[in-house]
Amino acid sequence: MVSNALRDADLSYTIHPYTNLVAHETKGPLIAVRGEGVRVFDDKGKDYIEGMAGLWCASLGFSEPRLAAAAARQMAELPFFHMFSHKSHEPGIRLSEELVKRAPVPMARAFFCNSGSEANDTAIKMIWYINNALGRPQKKKIIARKRAYHGVTVASASLTGLPANHRDFDLPIANILHTSSPDYYREGKPGESEEAFAKRCADELEAMILAEDPNTVAAFFAEPIMGAGGVVLPPKGYFEHIQAVLKKYDILLVADEVICGFGRTGQYWGSQTFGLKPDILTCAKALSSAYMPISAVLVTEEVYKPLRDNSGKIGTFGHGYTYSAHPVAAAVALETLAIYDERDILGNVAVSGARLQERLRSFADHPLVGNVRGIGLIGAIELVADKATHGAFPASDAVGPRVVTKAEEAGVILRAMAGDVVAFSPPLIITPEEVDQMMDRFTVALEAVTAEVLG
Ligand code: PMP
Repeated sequence: MVSNALRDADLSYTIHPYTNLVAHETKGPLIAVRGEGVRVFDDKGKDYIEGMAGLWCASLGFSEPRLAAAAARQMAELPFFHMFSHKSHEPGIRLSEELVKRAPVPMARAFFCNSGSEANDTAIKMIWYINNALGRPQKKKIIARKRAYHGVTVASASLTGLPANHRDFDLPIANILHTSSPDYYREGKPGESEEAFAKRCADELEAMILAEDPNTVAAFFAEPIMGAGGVVLPPKGYFEHIQAVLKKYDILLVADEVICGFGRTGQYWGSQTFGLKPDILTCAKALSSAYMPISAVLVTEEVYKPLRDNSGKIGTFGHGYTYSAHPVAAAVALETLAIYDERDILGNVAVSGARLQERLRSFADHPLVGNVRGIGLIGAIELVADKATHGAFPASDAVGPRVVTKAEEAGVILRAMAGDVVAFSPPLIITPEEVDQMMDRFTVALEAVTAEVLG
């Protein structure tokens, strides 16, 4: 189909996810046709450095032939089988073993789904199931955080702590609560140290648990770094204080490693970087470098045992997706994990991540930049109207989205989050030279918008 016809068909037939559907009618689509390393090319031949690895996910870039070959091999051999009612297959079995072996804390078992949202929904259902099995049906409430992002299915969207995911969708569902966001830059009080702020977050969590009755609170969900909520890194000591509270009241910790897992933060898991000891871990995205949809839920022996015992009693663990551990997705994930090891992906994150962090921090004194943050190959620049007070621009000025639009013109794809936070999350294979190119293109965009804003 020629470009214009394809564009017209897009406008006529598609509902785009996470899109202003009215603005789309005039802005139109960016139609990607090909990928090469960290770049994608549109239908007019223009190249873009993918500064977000798609949606924080295409860790090995956009042209890894070994992943295509692994998918083709599995397609030819056994394109589909499932794992319901005692059925099994080699890619599903081997991927379970690989993930359990690689987990940041001793984990017992892996369960597969197709997306981060489904993995988090599954974690919620497992928690409810085991608390019924353990004879404590009142212990069901789940606490997540304001600004968290855990997905968009009914339960995972309820965990998500962003207004756009609740407003107009009649969410959150009952029994899901949101405690304070760990954003020191936005929520820290004047004169409050980072450590004191972290302690206050844990105190606020404890107060919520006590107000609700600890016997009714089952689990706490957290991303090691909040991604879509604005790339919020935990303040110093945060997870130490939080986990002490959870332990005190026998509350499970679920680490949502959907963005942080597989090297993004410089260690294999964000849980290692920030000292989380989860009872349940969810992961997706870089598990298959996003070449196939697949996600996983890892559980400790303590979580697995009641699940196992109760299914024996009642006859089944009544949960599973047609495509749980889809063999083609599992084969691609296995190949992805092998490539991470062979190419020392953590070594590359150390080198290119250092360059990214250095380039990001060089914007600290820029007149529009209020805060710069990041670690490894994830980072953000928060744009503000007033550096001294952290005062934000009016949302209607759309300063962050304007920078992202200009960046696209300059040949780098980035994302703007609420609060004029521009996020960076390039493929984990990016070289330091490509980081420089990405940041040079971003600089062009930032300066263009700065000229408009400051006049
Ligand atoms: N958890 C986190 C931390 C995420 O960033 C995302 C997606 N960006 C999800 C869960 C949901 O994943 P999916 O879009 O695959 O359902």
